Amino acid sequence: MENQLFIYNTLSRKKELFKPINAPFVGMYVCGPTLYSDVHIGNCRTFTSFDIMYRYLLHLGYKVRYVRNITDVGHLADEDAGEGEDRVGRQARLKQLEPMEIVQRYAFGFREVMALLNLLPPSIEPTASGHIPEQIEMTQKIIEQGFAYEKDGNVYFDVEKFSKSNNYGILSGRNLEDQLDNTRELDGQEEKKGRLDFALWKKAKPEHIMRWNSPWGVGFPGWHIECSAMSQKYLGETFDIHGGGMDLIPTHHTNEVAQSVGCCGNAPVNYWVHTNMLTLNGQKMSRSLGNVFLPVELFTGMKLAADSPSATPSQAKLEGKHPLFEKAYNPMAVRFFMLQTHYSSTLDFSNDALQAAEKGFNRLMESMKTLQSLPASASSTSDITKLREQCYAAMNDDFNTPILLSHLFEAARIVNSVNDKKEALTAADIDTLKTLYKDFVVDVLGLNPAEENGKQMEVLDKVVNLVLDIRVKAKQNKDFKTSDELRDKLTEAGVIIKDGKEGSTWTLS
Ligand code: AMP
Ligand code: ZN
Repeated sequence: MENQLFIYNTLSRKKELFKPINAPFVGMYVCGPTLYSDVHIGNCRTFTSFDIMYRYLLHLGYKVRYVRNITDVGHLADEDAGEGEDRVGRQARLKQLEPMEIVQRYAFGFREVMALLNLLPPSIEPTASGHIPEQIEMTQKIIEQGFAYEKDGNVYFDVEKFSKSNNYGILSGRNLEDQLDNTRELDGQEEKKGRLDFALWKKAKPEHIMRWNSPWGVGFPGWHIECSAMSQKYLGETFDIHGGGMDLIPTHHTNEVAQSVGCCGNAPVNYWVHTNMLTLNGQKMSRSLGNVFLPVELFTGMKLAADSPSATPSQAKLEGKHPLFEKAYNPMAVRFFMLQTHYSSTLDFSNDALQAAEKGFNRLMESMKTLQSLPASASSTSDITKLREQCYAAMNDDFNTPILLSHLFEAARIVNSVNDKKEALTAADIDTLKTLYKDFVVDVLGLNPAEENGKQMEVLDKVVNLVLDIRVKAKQNKDFKTSDELRDKLTEAGVIIKDGKEGSTWTLS
C-alpha cells in the first residue's frame, strides 16, 4: 500500500498523515442530500469530491465502508435557528403527497445524476426516518450523561453545560462568546435554557406530518442527531473520516461532535474533511438563494422526462436547455470541470469554464485512444516511472486533482509526441503508461472513456433538433403531411415530441 497520504483535517487545521484506526479498514461518513427537491450542481460538486477520496482510498488498497445518508426528516426551513417547517414535510403538504413519495421521487433523480457523473455508490445509504429508534436511544444517553434536558415534549442539547468540560467550538475554531454574539434570540423558543441549545427531539405540532412516539411524547428528531446516530451505528463510536461541505462546519458538524462526545465521551471522528462551495458569479449556489443549476438543465443523457413522476417545473426545460448555456454538456466534461480545482477552493460555474473543461476532457480521452496503438521503440525519451510517482505524490498531497491532471496532460503530450514520431517509448514504458491511465484517469478520477452514451446523446440531440427544424419549415409551407409524418416517424423511433408556445421539445419514450 503506497501510503503517504496526507489529508487536511479541519480539526487540527493542518495536513496530517492518514492513519486509519484499523487498517486496511476505513470508515467514511459523508452528509448526504436532503431530498425535498432536485440536487443541484453545487451538491454534485461536494459528492464528487468525496467520490474522488473514496476512489483513491480504494485504489490504495483500503477496504472502505462509505456511508452517505439521505435526509428525509428533521431538516427544517431555517436550520441555523432550528425553526420552520420540515423541508420534506412542506413539499408533501404542497403537493398533497406522502413525505416518502417526495423523497422517493428525488432519490430517483439523485441516483441517476450520481450515476451519470460516474460516482461510485456508497456502501450504505441510510435514511433518517429508518433510524428513529437509534436517534431516540442516543438522545436518551445524552440526557443520562446530563448534557440534554426535556422541556414540554422537546429535548435540547445543553451547550453551556457541555462547554464547561468540553470545547464546543473545536471544529469551527470559534469560542462560545463569539458564537453567542452571532446567534439570534428567537421568539417561541423560551423553553430553551441557552441560546445555543439545539433540539435533539422536537414535539410535533398537530399539523406536522412526520411524527413518531418517543419517551417525550409524539415528535420528530432534530437534523443533527441523525448523522451522529447513523455514523455510530455503521462505523462505530470513533471512525476515520467524516465529510461534508464547509457550510456544515459551524452548526451541523459542530453539533454532531457535541452529541457524540456528550453521549459516549469520545471524539467521533479522527479526520474531518470539508469541501468548498460551487459558486455562480462568486455567490454560493444554493436552493435558498434560488441561483441553482440542475443537472437536468445541463447534461446530455438524462433519462428523466418532463412529465415523469420526478419531474419538477424546471425540468420542463429539458436536457441541457438552460438559457445561460449554449449547449448541453457530457456529464463527464462536468466532472472533469470539477476536478480541475482542488476541493478546498471555491469553484465558479460558467459557460466558458465548461467549454474549456470539455476541450480538456476530450484531449485527455483522445490521447488515451492514441495510446492503445502507440509504436514502441528500443529506448525511451521520457521517464514514465517518475511521471507515475508524481501522480501518486499529487494525490497523496490531500487529493490534489488539479496537479494530478497537469501530470496526466504531460502524459498526453508524450503520447501525442510519440505518435508523431517526435519522441520515443519502449514497449515496457508504453505498458506503464497504459496502467497509469487506467489507474489515475479511469479508477481514481473516474473519467469514463467509454462515455459513448454522452457522445451519442449529443449527436442525437443535434439530429432530432435538425428534424424538428425541418418540421417547422414544412409547417410554414403548409406541408402538414410531411410535418405529421416526421412527428409520427420520430414517435415510432422512441422520440416523443411536445409542441408548445415557444416551439417543440422532445424526450425519449
Ligand atoms: P443539502 O441537501 O442542502 O443538505 O446539501 C447536501 C450537501 O451539499 C452538503 O454537504 C452541502 O454542504 C453541499 N452543498 C450545498 N451547496 C453547495 C454548493 N454550492 N457547493 C458545494 N457543495 C454544496
Ligand atoms: Zn450530516
